[in-house]
Amino acid sequence: MSANLAAELTEAERDRILAKSALFTPPPARLADGRRDLVGLSRAELAAELAEIGEKPFRAKQLWHWIYHQGAVEFSRMSSIARPLQEKLAERFVIGRPEAATVQTSEDATRKFLFRFRDGQEAETVYIPDREEDRGAVCISSQVGCTLSCRFCHTGTQALVRNLGSAEIVGQFMAARDSYGEWPSPKGETPRLLSTIVLMGMGEPLYNYENVAKAMTIVMDNEGIGLSRRRITLSTSGVVPMIERCGAELGVNLAVSLHAVRDELRDELVPLNRKYPIAELIAACRRYPAASNARRITFEYVMLRGVNDTPADARELVRLIAGIPAKVNLIPFNPWPGSRFETSTAAAIDRFAGIVMDAGFSSPVRSPRGQDILAACGQLRTDSRRSRDETDPRRSRDETAPRRSRPAA
Ligand code: SAH
Ligand code: SF4
Repeated sequence: MSANLAAELTEAERDRILAKSALFTPPPARLADGRRDLVGLSRAELAAELAEIGEKPFRAKQLWHWIYHQGAVEFSRMSSIARPLQEKLAERFVIGRPEAATVQTSEDATRKFLFRFRDGQEAETVYIPDREEDRGAVCISSQVGCTLSCRFCHTGTQALVRNLGSAEIVGQFMAARDSYGEWPSPKGETPRLLSTIVLMGMGEPLYNYENVAKAMTIVMDNEGIGLSRRRITLSTSGVVPMIERCGAELGVNLAVSLHAVRDELRDELVPLNRKYPIAELIAACRRYPAASNARRITFEYVMLRGVNDTPADARELVRLIAGIPAKVNLIPFNPWPGSRFETSTAAAIDRFAGIVMDAGFSSPVRSPRGQDILAACGQLRTDSRRSRDETDPRRSRDETAPRRSRPAA
């Protein structure tokens, strides 16, 4: 195949993915009373909203600072804006946050939120403090449910209900910061605790690329939250046609959910592999524009007892990723009710990690965090739905959202 033809095919495939994603568009970020949520708008969109009510562009800059730098949720707190304009803004707009339906803090300080959005849909967000430093990562969801059905993943048992909008994606991070009072002090000290984002919650971020990209652009804006692209990691199960675009446009760190080193097994564990097999995925990683020795690609590998954890698997893994600036994150499988797998033994994990390390790749074993609360990702939402189904007869077996068959890819 000529290079031109290959590029055209990739382009067509990208268009197809984006068109499919549009079928799961979130509802408009607007209240029932008609007020528009300003969170999640790009700078240009914010300026356009203000122009419509006759306000000058510098107001957009001012509001941006209050919303994203100061974390203000009330116009009345915006001391650089005169009272009459504060009132005019409050009549037309809100600065929204998702509602925390559940908040659980673990003994090790991991905090898990179940956020409920305006239409009642829910998604999970987790704050994971660093063990050594006074900082931590916020693990954010990109979709309600997932079209993919990775066999070991609890979210994979839930059909995709819809994509999250940019307001809902940024909103998870902002609401988590609210929960820690983590906005700059009047003196302007930069928040540290919630200073890293990992897109590793519910959903496949590269199947909701446009909303994710918009949200990350907001988060990276220097006059607002101002996170560096180095502090953001996007995890994908391997949506090959979108990987390059993500690297070129967002330049965030990439994590790839590999989990198996032979197509036969990966076809089973990560069914998207049937569409984008290992060789294509690894080739896309080799081309990833934002990877370097200082910014390595993370290969995530869930350790499943007797399934993918032999020394031969480890040796094949290092052969596959040879030459890529990479590290391997070994994740002990997190069981959930009804799951068919068990976590690898500590000895098997050690042996596996040793082989990867000897080949020159760092291979941290992700330590289980928040075990007392942190059920497998996606479980909190299922539990919440179940308890509502039990208490609210209208909800039982009467799905509010359309169900679609999987995989939709
Ligand atoms: N959809 C994206 C991001 C969300 S999943 C992706 O698949 O990469 C984030 C990570 O958690 C993925 O590596 C996923 O494979 C892993 N994961 C899912 N369920 C798990 C479980 N029960 N135990 C351990 N890791 C799991
Ligand atoms: Fe979706 Fe990721 Fe879970 Fe696979 S592992 S089902 S892609 S959320």
